Amino acid sequence: MAKLYFRYGPMGSGKSAQLLIVAYNYREIGRRPYIIKPAADTRSKLVGSRVEFLSREADLVATPDLDLFTAIQTAHLSGEPIACVLVDEAQFVTRQQVNDLFLVSVELDIPVIGYGLRTDYQAELFPGSARWLALAQLEELKMVCRCNRKATLTGRKRADGQFIKSDPSENDQVFMGGNESYEALCPIHYLEWVGDGRFRRK
Ligand SMILES: [Zn+2]
Repeated sequence: MAKLYFRYGPMGSGKSAQLLIVAYNYREIGRRPYIIKPAADTRSKLVGSRVEFLSREADLVATPDLDLFTAIQTAHLSGEPIACVLVDEAQFVTRQQVNDLFLVSVELDIPVIGYGLRTDYQAELFPGSARWLALAQLEELKMVCRCNRKATLTGRKRADGQFIKSDPSENDQVFMGGNESYEALCPIHYLEWVGDGRFRRK
């Protein structure tokens, strides 16, 4: 039986690169991958990665209200059968869309792999990621902090390179940017540079 997988890791852990390699490998054996990208990531239809020669357009750019089960079922039945569904920026699909993808894995028997962030720069789950964590098989993609410890969190930087401080009043999860605005951090440096405002008792 096909499964739903969530491969999560902080910024810079190679999520999009791994997605593109999996897509490439499917095409190499003559099978059809189907790449989905949430519309919340407005940069473009392109699924890019820091590995420059790796990039490819998504098959589907999904707006939040799109029924992914119906969209995938239609694509699966109308053309070459889909061998695997790959979701870039998986934290930005909605909770309902993760439900749709769960049904795709069970009822259409197509494996679905989401690549995304577990938490935002304030160390809070994205709503989509919470649903992935509840329904999917979990696989962690590793990244290290500047200090070489394992990075488990992501900080967000301003243009001047300073980290934006953790602040419970901030709520801007859909801000997107490249590696110039996000950095994977270990817990020690997260508390030091982003701050402990979300962790301390008031
Ligand atoms: Zn560190």
